[in-house]
Order: sequence, then structure tokens, then C-alpha cells
Amino acid sequence: MLIKGVPASPGIVAGKAFVLKSEALAIPKYKIPQKEITLEIKRYMDALARTRKELAGIQKKVETELGESYPDIFSAHLLILDDPTLREKTIKIIEENNINAEYAVAQVLEKIGKTFSNIADNYLRERAQDFKDVGKRILKNLLGKKEETLANLNDKVIIVAHDLSPSETAQMDKKNVLGFATDVGGRTSHTAIMARSLTIPAVVGLGDITQKVENGENIVIDGHEGVVVTNPQKSTLARYLKKRKLLAVLEKKLNKLKKAPAQTTDGHRISLMANIEMPKEVDLLERYGAEGVGLYRTEFFFLNRGDIPSEEEQFQAYKYVAERIYPLPVVIRTLDLGGDKFASILETPKEINPFLGWRAIRFCLARPDIFKTQLRAILRASMYGKVSIMYPLISALQELRQANKILEEVKRELKKDKKEFSKDIKVGAMIETPSAAITADLLAGEVNFFSIGTNDLIQYAMAVDRINEKIAYLYQPASPAVLRFIKHIIDSGHRKGVKIAVCGEIAGDINLTLMLLGLGVDELSMGPVAIPEVKQIIRSVSIEEARKIAEKAMSFDSTEKVVSYLKSVKEPLKLLYKKS
Ligand code: PEP
Ligand code: MG
Repeated sequence: MLIKGVPASPGIVAGKAFVLKSEALAIPKYKIPQKEITLEIKRYMDALARTRKELAGIQKKVETELGESYPDIFSAHLLILDDPTLREKTIKIIEENNINAEYAVAQVLEKIGKTFSNIADNYLRERAQDFKDVGKRILKNLLGKKEETLANLNDKVIIVAHDLSPSETAQMDKKNVLGFATDVGGRTSHTAIMARSLTIPAVVGLGDITQKVENGENIVIDGHEGVVVTNPQKSTLARYLKKRKLLAVLEKKLNKLKKAPAQTTDGHRISLMANIEMPKEVDLLERYGAEGVGLYRTEFFFLNRGDIPSEEEQFQAYKYVAERIYPLPVVIRTLDLGGDKFASILETPKEINPFLGWRAIRFCLARPDIFKTQLRAILRASMYGKVSIMYPLISALQELRQANKILEEVKRELKKDKKEFSKDIKVGAMIETPSAAITADLLAGEVNFFSIGTNDLIQYAMAVDRINEKIAYLYQPASPAVLRFIKHIIDSGHRKGVKIAVCGEIAGDINLTLMLLGLGVDELSMGPVAIPEVKQIIRSVSIEEARKIAEKAMSFDSTEKVVSYLKSVKEPLKLLYKKS
């Protein structure tokens, strides 16, 4: 059986499934005599204390194993544990109903769970998982149950679970884990982030894989395609193993290009950069031959936590990246919260149209306290490497000028505070709204570079919500509309001497590489694993050929024609395997 999910971390593995059944805890219900109520509350408080100790222990383990720069999920868990609502509501139920602590905790958790499940927001729904994780831990401690653990796996297995809580992943015996497959989750869920960070192949959002797979059953997971095959026939298994082999051969071949430039056969050169979300991911640059970080999404700092990160904390992270990759450059994007990236700490109100709402630079301009703190941290970090600043979701010249004005203010304040920063720090704007695209000539006067954020540009250009599955068929990167926008941005920018990067997902799509090259991009920034393949494609053509291909592709009147032309004119897959 083939089950389709969301590709979360690349790689193909075959092996035995280890199904982590998340057992439903049997919650006892019994009366507590009035005179023993204080004792029952103490029993509850003791369980909280034990839970706190456990969480602090895991937090430490994660810090040691994954580095301090990893998002501090467990601080959020500790905050939940200390949440007065959780504590006080439980105690109130115990006192008012003369009922045992387990039952009271379960009631409070059920109520919180219901509130969360009615919320449409992905990030918030994922936070509900944090509550469940903490709640289960408290209940286990009350019930005196031992934790089911992945700490002592005897064989190499593929973990199949409903969802992997951060604490489960953290305690896992990683040398015996071949891959993950989970029922729930998206590309930004904890499991996906952890899997990428540990470079373990993973597929998430598989629906009910835990119901379909038995413990010990053979399964294959393909983290490139986002599929899981259960109980594969010999021929299927052979096909996947062959694909893995081919990928390994290809990887080996492409590995040799690690130090080679992304240069066409006639010497036209562009830069291939990495998109990162976590400081720790800079380790992948060297492995895939990235020439720097073209997009550092800083939002992850603000998610999954209960407080706003201080200037010092942000400075340390930005400095770590800048210093670690020097002399390679890093483009740090200022906060792009809102839309589907919701951070509860910022208390942004719920909106009907979040993607058209109070997000990204709009939010930052309205909250100069948060914006300035981040700019100070970035500017200070610029002393330790080659740092550029980039604003997300610019939609008008005025907005860009306002952001630059605040940047100048921050520079003046830093000077006054005798804090150093690089004098020639470059500033860029993301072009991801139709209004920015169409006025690119105006915006070009205020920045050193543009980076085209096609993930958003496509959704705004086509009026298609990028996370709505029902209309996903309209989300077409190669549509004549999107291509015309991209061409217009590149031409307008170049006329004003501004460098043009593309940092949306299409930058790593080998079917579109020649198109983007031919249109004249100067830089492509992508998930680092895609770099070797894109480089190989670039190295197999001349710039003249690429220009002709782009010109021809621009002449078609439908996405289908563009796509089939780009697939056939210089078959990308063939180019990958071509001798070079
Ligand atoms: C984009 O919109 O293309 C982009 C790179 O930014 P994000 O995906 O973070 O919105
Ligand atoms: Mg964007």
C-alpha cells in the first residue's frame, strides 16, 4: 500500500516499523474525603514538581545534543507547566468536586484541547500538541506510570507514530532510527524540523499510518516524494532501493561539484545560496556547497516560546551564523510573522484574511520596539561576518522608506551607545507582492538587492491561498502571469543596477532552473539539499541557450504548455545524469 504525505526530510530508507502506539491513559475517577483534599492537592503539586524536573532534564539533553541554537521547545513546555490557569483550574476542580487529581487534570486538558481544535491556525493547532505533551507527562506522574521511551531501541527501525512529541524525539536513541513516519504534522511541525536537523528521512501528515502499519512490518519511506509504502512487494522494494542507489550515485557525482562554481558552459556565473531557519543548519552549507545564506528566516526564534527574545539572545544567534560561515555572506530577513506563521507571544489578533493582514514588515513598522531590537541585534552581528538585512513583504515605496528610516535611527542609537556595526551593511527588499513587483523600478532606488519571494508572490499574483489544499491546482509557479512578474522584476531591477535573487521554493526546482537562469537572476537561494542538482543543471548549458529557452517559454499562453516545454527542451533529469 502506498500512502502519500508531506515530504519533511529527504532520503529513502527501508526497514522494520516500530509503531509507537500512543496509549490512551485510563483516567480513574474517585471521591476524596474533605479532610484529605489538602493531601490530594499536595499529590498534584508533587507530580508537577516531578514533571518539571523531567522537562528540565530533557531540555539539558537537547541542548547538549543539538546545540543551544536549537529552538527552545522545552522552555515553552515549562511555561505551560507553570501556567496558573492549568494549575489553578485543576485545584479548583479537586476542591469543588472532592475529586481525584488525575480526573481534574484530564478535565482541564480536555477543555483546553477543545478550544485549540476550533482554531484554524496551523501553528496554534501545533501548540495544542505541546499542551497534550505536558498534560500526558503530568498524568503519568500522577498515575506512577513509567514513560514509554524510544531511548533503548535494540534494532535499526523506522519510527511510526501519531506525532512525535519533542520530548520523545529528544530522548530517542538516534543511532537506531532510520526514519520517521507520522499521522499528523506539516513541514513546520516539530517532527519535521527535528528530522531535517538530524538529517533523518521523514514523511509527516500521513493521515492514519499508525492504524495501517503493524509493529515489525516492513516499510519504505521516501522523504523526497513524501510517500510511505507498507509491506512492499519485492519488485517495489527493489525499485526504491534502485532509486536510492541512483540517488547515491548522483549524490557522489554531484558531490564532486561541491567546490565548482555554478557557472554555465560559456562562463556566466550565478550564486547558489541556502535558506535556513535555524542557526544550526549552517552546518549543511559546507555539505551541499552553498555559497552563503541567501535567506535566514528569523521567525523561528519567536515561535514555540513564551517570551520575546532579547537583543542579546538574537545577537548571539545572528553572530553565530555570521561568524561560522565567514567569509561567506548571510542575508538575515527581519521578522516575517503573521500569515501562517503565528506567534502567540505577540498577541496578534485573529484576522479573517491573515495573508492580507497585519504581518511581516507591516507588523514590524507598527511595533518599532520589536523591530528595533532585532535591527540592533543584526547590526551588532554584522561585525562578525558579511551580513545583509532584508525586509519581507514590502508592498509600497513608503513602507520601504519607513523601514530604512528606522534602520538609520537604530544605527544612530548604536553609535551613541558606542556599539560597533559594519558601515557598509547591504539592505534588500523581498519582492513578493504584485504591487512591489510592478513598482520594482521605484523600490530599486532604496535598496542594494531584491530577493523574489515566489512562495508569496505566486499566491498574491494568482489570488490563491498558498496553504489551501482545495485550490492548490491554481498555485502555478510556471504560469504566464507569474513568469511575467518575475521577468518584470528582474528587468526593472537590473536597469537600476540592483542584484536579483530568488528565494522561494522554485529556486530549488530543477524544472525551472534554466528558465530562471535565462531570465537573468543573479542568485538562487534554496533548501541546501537542492543545491548540487541545480548547480549541475546550470553547468550543463550556455547562457545563450538558457536565454533562448526562457524567451520561448515566455511565449506560451498556458502553464501546461510552459511546463511541458521546460520538461522536454533540455530534460532536467537527463542533464542531472549527464557526464560532466
Ligand atoms: C517566499 O514567500 O517566497 C519566501 C521565501 O518567504 P516565506 O516562504 O518565508 O514566506
Ligand atoms: Mg514570503
